[in-house]
Amino acid sequence: MLTSYWIRQREYLLEISRALTAQLDLDTVLEKILQAATEILGGQAALIALRQPGGGFAVHAARGLPIRLAGYFSTLLVDIPEQAGHADFHIPGLAIKLQDVALATGLPFNQVIALPMLTGRDLIGVLYVFRAHGGSFTLDDRQVLSSFADQAAIAVQNAQLYQRLAQEKRRLDAILEHSADGVMIMDSGQRVTVFNLALSKLTGWSAGEAIGHHHDEIVVWERLETDLDLKKAVAGGWPLARERGGHSLYVEGDLRRRNGTTVSVGITYAPLLDREGRLVNIIANVRDITRFREADRLKSTFVSIVSHELKTPVATILGYAETLARPDARWDMTTAREMAVTIKEEAQRLDRLITDLLDVSRLQAGALPLTMEDVALDALASRVAQRFQVQTDRHEILVRFPDDFPAVRGDAMRLEQVLNNLVSNGIKYSPQGGKIFIEGQSRPDGVVVTVTDEGIGIPTTEQGRIFDAFYRVDDSSTRSTGGAGLGLFLARAIIEAHGGEMWVESEPGKGSAFSFALPYG
Ligand code: ADP
Repeated sequence: MLTSYWIRQREYLLEISRALTAQLDLDTVLEKILQAATEILGGQAALIALRQPGGGFAVHAARGLPIRLAGYFSTLLVDIPEQAGHADFHIPGLAIKLQDVALATGLPFNQVIALPMLTGRDLIGVLYVFRAHGGSFTLDDRQVLSSFADQAAIAVQNAQLYQRLAQEKRRLDAILEHSADGVMIMDSGQRVTVFNLALSKLTGWSAGEAIGHHHDEIVVWERLETDLDLKKAVAGGWPLARERGGHSLYVEGDLRRRNGTTVSVGITYAPLLDREGRLVNIIANVRDITRFREADRLKSTFVSIVSHELKTPVATILGYAETLARPDARWDMTTAREMAVTIKEEAQRLDRLITDLLDVSRLQAGALPLTMEDVALDALASRVAQRFQVQTDRHEILVRFPDDFPAVRGDAMRLEQVLNNLVSNGIKYSPQGGKIFIEGQSRPDGVVVTVTDEGIGIPTTEQGRIFDAFYRVDDSSTRSTGGAGLGLFLARAIIEAHGGEMWVESEPGKGSAFSFALPYG
């Protein structure tokens, strides 16, 4: 009778153990343990306390207890011994604590058994079973339960590890998905298995479309900057060839997007090998390098424009100075003065360029200091007009401001620099001559000043770019005039530093109107 009881117990335990270890969801595992433990012992309730990552224990699952009363049971977790085997596991004063809990909750429990859940020597949790009546828990009860508790501990640990793994995977997936760089993971046959959001944006392929495709269907090079692409590298033995075993591969060039446009990218391919050195995955990190390319382009434009702009006046100055200094020549006063004036003008042009370059570097450092005062833009415009009028016969510079034009707060010198630039451009880019207007309007929230010319105008496609540093419209009429493409860039920066804005309206062949708006205060 007793033997068959034991056999049944053993079989039951075996069955539970199997069911437990087949489970990976922690809540389900805990639920099954509680159910089995109450059944084995004929208990009315049970709970499981698990060790917390930060230390101490907390109730993770309960059965047969109204959830609102679960808090009372936390006193039973106090004084859980940190280090103990099955034989010497003992929570001091447990029976008395249970009496208090029963009194406080009105629950009819008067017996408790606490079993350590051990994996090796590590106590990962404690299983409590409560009984309302019946004989006290026997040594046999303990023995049956302790082997069960060990199985349960293993199942809990598995579920916890699995949970951690799943969490880690979710974290990695989130990092991958939201990484600013494009990321693509391929299997050993170069079929895409993961394709993140940034890469979708970059290439125009959605993850759903890309997954399952071969790398070469997605990554199509319009132009290669590096010697190798993935195909050639693989043909050469990458990543397994001994001399390069496991090394990453960098490929750079212009990639064809799904819609046919191109984008400059650098792709780093990293192989993932297994212990035996077999290729498992290739991870490709795709970076948009358009901005670096743009910066490169800007740098070379900068070098060519600035060197041209520096060289031209220097060559003129040198030429005239050498001529003047020739020991064998005698110059009459008028000729000598003319040469000196040219030297002065070219030196001024150099000085302007150097000042502009300094302003640009100040701006890039984030500081364009302004000295604010009340500025009468109408008077300023008249001064600028007068100064330029003496330099040209072909243009008529007209100033039109209403009589009661209000003053604005601003840096007078910087605003004069803006007007100088707009008027000098108006002259420069209307080689046939014509009228140049400087007009002012006052509005409720500020003033608007417009400089209009009747010159060559600006194609619509260029109007957005002429305010960029070192940008010049590339046509013969611009090329024949000097300039570093800094004037408008600085003018707009100055106006924006005043809290204003600047824009252009223009029609090629008819003329241009540059306006800026400034707030009053
Ligand atoms: P720069 O005159 O030194 O080239 P800016 O920054 O002042 O530099 O102007 C940038 C470009 O914008 C010029 O090269 C020219 O192509 C165009 N531009 C500026 N002002 C005018 C204008 N009034 N009419 C036509 N084109 C203009």
